[in-house]
Amino acid sequence: MAPPKVPHRECYIGGKWVAPASNKRIPVICPFTEEHIGSIAGGGEPEVKSAVSAANSAFKNGSWSGLTGTQRASYLRKIADKVKERKDTLAQYETLDNGKPISEAAWDMDDVAGCFEYYAELAEKQDKQLETPVELPMAEFKSVIRHEPLGPVALISSFNYPALIATWKVAPALAAGCTIVLKPSEMTSVTCLELAAIMDEVGLPPGVFNLVTGLGADAGAPLTSSPGIAKISFTGSTATGRRIMAEAAKRGVPTCMELGGKSCLIVFDDVNIENAVEWAMFGCFWTNGQICSATSRLLVHERIADKFYACLKQRAESIKVGDPLDEDCRLGPVVAEHQLAKIMDFIKGAKAEGATLLIGGSRPKHLPKGYFVEPTVFINVKPEMRLWREEVFGPVLASATFSTEEEALAIANATEFGLAGAIITDDAERCERVAAALECGIVWKNCSQPCFCNVPWGGKKASGFGRELGTYGFSSYQNIKQITTYVSKDKWDWYPSKL
Ligand code: NAD
Repeated sequence: MAPPKVPHRECYIGGKWVAPASNKRIPVICPFTEEHIGSIAGGGEPEVKSAVSAANSAFKNGSWSGLTGTQRASYLRKIADKVKERKDTLAQYETLDNGKPISEAAWDMDDVAGCFEYYAELAEKQDKQLETPVELPMAEFKSVIRHEPLGPVALISSFNYPALIATWKVAPALAAGCTIVLKPSEMTSVTCLELAAIMDEVGLPPGVFNLVTGLGADAGAPLTSSPGIAKISFTGSTATGRRIMAEAAKRGVPTCMELGGKSCLIVFDDVNIENAVEWAMFGCFWTNGQICSATSRLLVHERIADKFYACLKQRAESIKVGDPLDEDCRLGPVVAEHQLAKIMDFIKGAKAEGATLLIGGSRPKHLPKGYFVEPTVFINVKPEMRLWREEVFGPVLASATFSTEEEALAIANATEFGLAGAIITDDAERCERVAAALECGIVWKNCSQPCFCNVPWGGKKASGFGRELGTYGFSSYQNIKQITTYVSKDKWDWYPSKL
């Protein structure tokens, strides 16, 4: 049977599909068949220039920034409706392009639609309170706060949630009245291109949403150094994020950085072991282990470690690994050959450094093709080992034991990253203490990974700064302006007049 193809599309600039000046195309390789299933445009500096110029003109002509929140919301709701209508096709493209299990891709599409609806609601709400009065200590003055769209924004996204992470940026930016240039990951641009087609169909004014596909160096770098950009929102690795921050600093452009992580799940000795094992697996193997917030460091209380590891081994060995288009699949391939090679290198390194392999560590025997790696768990991992310190971005869980709460917290926080953390215990007070003491932006109690667009998302330390989602994600695309008025009839008279 011929491999399924993804639609052939160009860059989307100023309301038109535009082939790159270089005519370059980048192949789309399906990570489980290793077949070429299409290509994306290899955009570069000329396309970025036109896209930024289109976003600037659209911002200035007021075709979007001049609308009310309610008017913008009506477009966002139409986008959400189209995503819902095409959910199955979009989910299939996401799986073909990224390799995530189809059931997870379908879940992503629900979240994409939900995110557009959530920000539509916030845009409508803001119409009811365009100006917020602020109480002042001097009666001669009155102040109000007004929220205005920030301007044309550059949005650069990662490969692991292609449509969803782009939406976390696009939906609030559009709701806030900004115009956009989106640069998705060159490894997974297909569903973002389908979103561009949807923007076109719902009649978004030209130049409001622009998309340039291409390599990071060709399209991402010129975008981050473009004049005329009011903000850069980036999701990706810490290394790329730092390069972008340095570039943005040259022009004083604000950035929001959603970067890597090495989050910790702490399991205390009072838990239901089966339940805790389930969350430990979900925390690291969901999305084929390619989650920024993956709780890829697992700390287990020494009193339950033997039982816990026996249960984890048995449960993880029965995870269904295979064709991600199969509804029952729970672990597909990683996104690309070089990612697989990087993961295998971590596994080799962990063995060489003396960690104990509990399960996995190889390509599954029944899958000779595709970028597959077994769900892998190492135990007895020491804090100085690379596997404990660095982000793998694959289904590889590193575990160690602890004996006291203080020790667990000290180990959990001894990392350069600060994205997320999780605790499993039946002791509510301990849960509260540990949640407060974890140095990160996201804490899960008695679970790991659930994510809702209503609550802010982001980290600290090397995991970045700024917040996406929730009301914070919305206001981060707005200029918050104070307008202070002198309302007194009296003269100010600081420099007494002789007249
Ligand atoms: P990456 O840094 O390789 O690429 C991210 C994006 O940056 C891509 O679109 C890429 O083309 C672009 N890019 C690359 N070089 C660039 C440059 N010089 N200038 C401008 N843009 C450039 O990251 P990735 O491999 O796509 O994603 C994986 C990483 O993303 C992991 O570290 C993961 O933890 C992180 N991530 C973080 C979050 C979060 O919310 N904190 C969410 C998802 C992923």
